[in-house]
Amino acid sequence: MNCIFCEIAEGKAKSDILYQDEFIISFLDIRPMNYGHSLVIPKKHYESFLEIPSNDLSAVINGVQIVFRAMSDSLNPDGINIVSNNGAAAGQSIPHFHFHIIPRFHSDEFKIKLNLKTYKGSSQKDFADKIRSYLPGKLISNVKE
Ligand code: 5GP
Ligand code: ZN
Repeated sequence: MNCIFCEIAEGKAKSDILYQDEFIISFLDIRPMNYGHSLVIPKKHYESFLEIPSNDLSAVINGVQIVFRAMSDSLNPDGINIVSNNGAAAGQSIPHFHFHIIPRFHSDEFKIKLNLKTYKGSSQKDFADKIRSYLPGKLISNVKE
């Protein structure tokens, strides 16, 4: 399999590595949304959030926090986005699970155009019921029926 992120993790492809441990590696994104835009990936190849086992996921999340803190201290951004695109429809272009850590500034030009919807009729409850039916545990509702 040809995966550029596996090659980076194995040291076969060049990248500006920021941080690594046994399980994860963090490096600069080659096409940054803002300068310093970084990625954190598991060294093992998992395609998405669904496939990565919880021990590797914990290592990735921990790495995200370590790099987030360093980014915050070094670049003094006004904010930081943590993003993970899963699936082509969500914008995933490299099918090796990863988080983006993106420094943000009040002055930056990066705007996400959202077309926010409004739930109609009972559809909010219907969507909640649908998702809950696939979740474990007892239904706990904070809404009085
Ligand atoms: P995705 O679109 O899958 O959420 O994010 C993949 C990211 O990987 C993109 O932001 C893209 O710029 C970055 N990327 C793609 N190829 C390379 C590469 O060879 N090296 C580095 N450092 N980043 C890459
Ligand atoms: Zn890979």
